[in-house]
Amino acid sequence: MTDMLSDRDATRIDDVIARRAEAAFGFLERLVAAPSTVGQETEAQAVVAEELDRLGFTVWRIPVPASIADDPAAGVPQVPYTGRHDVYGVTDDDSAPKLLLNGHIDVVPAHDADLWSGDPFVPVRRDGWLYGRGAGDMKCGFAMASLALDGLRGAGVDLPGPLGFLSAIEEECTGHGTLAAARAGVLGDNVLLMEPTGLDILVAGIGVLWIEIEVGSAGGHAEVADRSGNPVRSLSRLIAALRRFEERMNEENPDPVFATVPHPYNVNIGRICSGDWASSVPARARASIRVGFPRLWSPAQAEEAVREVILAEAAEDPWLAEHPPVVRSSGFRAEGYALDPAHPLVTTVAAAHKAAHGTTPSPYAIGSTTDARFYLNQFNRPALCYGPNVRNMHGVDEAVELASIVAGARTLARVIPTLLAEGTGFPQPDPEGLR
Ligand SMILES: [Zn+2]
Repeated sequence: MTDMLSDRDATRIDDVIARRAEAAFGFLERLVAAPSTVGQETEAQAVVAEELDRLGFTVWRIPVPASIADDPAAGVPQVPYTGRHDVYGVTDDDSAPKLLLNGHIDVVPAHDADLWSGDPFVPVRRDGWLYGRGAGDMKCGFAMASLALDGLRGAGVDLPGPLGFLSAIEEECTGHGTLAAARAGVLGDNVLLMEPTGLDILVAGIGVLWIEIEVGSAGGHAEVADRSGNPVRSLSRLIAALRRFEERMNEENPDPVFATVPHPYNVNIGRICSGDWASSVPARARASIRVGFPRLWSPAQAEEAVREVILAEAAEDPWLAEHPPVVRSSGFRAEGYALDPAHPLVTTVAAAHKAAHGTTPSPYAIGSTTDARFYLNQFNRPALCYGPNVRNMHGVDEAVELASIVAGARTLARVIPTLLAEGTGFPQPDPEGLR
């Protein structure tokens, strides 16, 4: 594949990127200051739409139909879709994008805000890092892409083909934003997701299932606790069984794609709700759990395996045997995915990174999911993630290294013209190819 940029163009682009970096950081700060947890994406999407308009895109809103829940690749919707939408920018209304950039605007909650150094939704810069919920996952990717496009525009480099830019909702719980847009025809011959990757190339992810377990009790005064069952204790027993299931899953399902990931399939107890008074036996307890599972399992198989573990453990417990727990699917039903690390999309991004930085980034796999799975599994489009260097994603004091936004933009500004010129030249990935 030929490099589309002359050395003189590349130098000019890097100069513009350096000059415009501050504006991109400002864009990121506006995004972080628009809290976009699930159901609350409108303000942040307006910030994205304004930026895409400034960059010369024609901007559309893409609704997510309620019928998305019936899609075979869907998860379980969290909140109604009325008034919520993806934002889609395209440089040419008449032809399909040769390259689609994908970012997700949604962020996870930051309920333990008092543990942060500052308000999670007030961006703060310190020692070259920008702190805030979503600064790392993944609003920094929007800033990186915007800066790359600013660099190309400012250097007078015309895009050699149509480019699309999708800002999707619900990547953190179902993937329905990206799935709905793709079903509506928002695709590219190649797709780059600007997820934070430390400027390496993320090519594969595991399956992810969300389940909720609910257990009940007779409830009542603490005086009857010895004979009423206690749902928190019941839940602890079921969680211990899931822990043993997790270890078996990791031992019994080696996958060469995840050979470098020591423990790919984590079962995470994400939320527990129960009770209202120290002297009352709670009437019920609920746990929201994320189950990572092998790439060769379908989400339905994973759910069945989890359900079996829970019900078998419940059968061993006198109270639970009489009051079986309810197990329900509650969000992600995500298949694993993998792009061959030798795929030309990977080598093209690696070559652009090398041209910008002199080093070769590593393709890698991770024990989590991204929206790349839809492009690879449902739509046969090559897709990978490349983005800035971050820390504490989903955690306290989440942050992005500002210099890595600039570095990533320099790579992206080199790869965008190449991929727009190349068009459909790449082979489509075979979803079964790496299985
Ligand atoms: Zn993300």
